[in-house]
Amino acid sequence: MGITTTFLLGSEINRLAEVLTDRTRIVFFETPTNPQMEIINIAGAVKVARAAGALVVVDNTFASPVNQSPLELGADLVIHSTTKYLGGHSDLTGCVVIGRGELLTPIWTWRKNLGQMMAPEVAFLLARSLRTLAVRVHHQNATAMAVAKFLQAHPKVKRANYPGLPDFPGHNVAASQMSGFGGMISFVYDGDAAATAAVVDRLKYFTIAASLGGVESLVTQPITTTHYGVTPEERARRGIVDGLVRLSVGLEDAGDLIADLKQALD
Ligand SMILES: *Cc1c(COP(=O)(O)O)cnc(C)c1O
Repeated sequence: MGITTTFLLGSEINRLAEVLTDRTRIVFFETPTNPQMEIINIAGAVKVARAAGALVVVDNTFASPVNQSPLELGADLVIHSTTKYLGGHSDLTGCVVIGRGELLTPIWTWRKNLGQMMAPEVAFLLARSLRTLAVRVHHQNATAMAVAKFLQAHPKVKRANYPGLPDFPGHNVAASQMSGFGGMISFVYDGDAAATAAVVDRLKYFTIAASLGGVESLVTQPITTTHYGVTPEERARRGIVDGLVRLSVGLEDAGDLIADLKQALD
């Protein structure tokens, strides 16, 4: 469609100003990022983008609207995969885009003409799920914090990536722009690809699947799923190491989840 895109890693966000040109229309990012949980300073990115005349679009799926409100931090449009926390039960797919009317009107026309209307039964499931969104997310925030602390203290875990951990690199920015740290965690297991896969296989309460945000806890090893097709060089550049494991914390008892991780890691 004649659109040129420049990609930056989460860690390269300080280069945003230098890659923006007078032809840049949109700065698009997610925070926390998948699967490293890097934190982008939303208000900071908005300031830089605004100065260059670009709109800011934030994919707020990982945080959910309970934990983070990018529009209040100056973003122009926010998108959520409703397949994740908003749906919350791993039984629907959908998306929502939120923002000012003047920006939504052209999107509305595209949506109508491309046939991206949600089926009535899917809309019904989503509407029911939204009523429990806040309680689900608050519970997942608390459980994820407990799981992250457990992982960080485990001798076979090199690093736990969770914005709620005080020594996580993005913690201070996360604390300033998020009211909760979410249910997504990743960690680096101290072992090779096969040993890491064995840990994942040993988990009983975490189902191996690539989605997230549902009532049941899920686990993925990015090199065998989301980043399977990425070359080893590119994986290295993005920090997707063989021992990286991503967790989506569900609504199970925190003690059960920690006991499950403990038996698999031990
Ligand atoms: C899953 C996901 C998407 C894609 O959404 P689908 O509903 O699965 O098409 C986009 N962004 C993020 C951050 C996601 O987790």
